[in-house]
Amino acid sequence: MFIDTHAHLNYPDIAKNIDDVLARARDAAVEAVIIPATTYKTSIEIIELAQKHEMLFAAVGIHPTELKDFEESHLGKIEELAGESKVVAIGEIGLDYYWEPYDRDLEILVITEQLRIAKRCGLPVILHNRKSTDDLMRIVKEEYEDGKLRGQFHSFSAGPEEAKECIEMGFYISFTGNITYKPNEGTYIAYDIVKNTAAEHLLLETDTPYLPPMPYRGKQNEPAYVKHTAAKIAELKEMSVEELGRITTENAKRLYGI
Ligand SMILES: [Zn+2]
Repeated sequence: MFIDTHAHLNYPDIAKNIDDVLARARDAAVEAVIIPATTYKTSIEIIELAQKHEMLFAAVGIHPTELKDFEESHLGKIEELAGESKVVAIGEIGLDYYWEPYDRDLEILVITEQLRIAKRCGLPVILHNRKSTDDLMRIVKEEYEDGKLRGQFHSFSAGPEEAKECIEMGFYISFTGNITYKPNEGTYIAYDIVKNTAAEHLLLETDTPYLPPMPYRGKQNEPAYVKHTAAKIAELKEMSVEELGRITTENAKRLYGI
């Protein structure tokens, strides 16, 4: 019934218990999980993991906070890996102006090249945005011009205007467990976006191991907990969690071809 579109299951603490984690996910009605990569090296690990477990799918790509060991040649390698079986997306890629120091020009070069790789390979992208909304929207719009770019804005953190623009371009948006936390200014913006966005444009995700939904805040997140985030979103949309699960699962299958 659910697809967790974003879980870093390759992280050592989770990978060592992968069979248990996946069993709990299946018990919680999670039928598939997408694992986004953060570097060229993790892209290889994740493909191996996905090829070993039927319910897992891989994204390959270089994350904006993981550019310390970046080499230009990694981009060509990512493009090669994109052809492996079980690879369904380029991600996670994006911009991050939160963790200092950051190299804005390098981040922009790396995301732009990866958006083009995605278009050449016919794959969707998984986008990360932290304190970089203006640059990210500008770059995505530029690369979208030829109409081949599609994907997901994961852990959506921009405003209602940007949400509308993303959806007009055919992108999907998703929220993590922090939408279940005690309401604050950011949560109220997310509530409004969820209420004003048709379920046909939403995806579910955990961002495992980060941002677990209530009542697991402070613990390690895992795909089984996606139902708690789904319950909150269904409540906001005044629909049943089954209906939300069904629609968002169809969305994920359509976007990622799984
Ligand atoms: Zn992530």
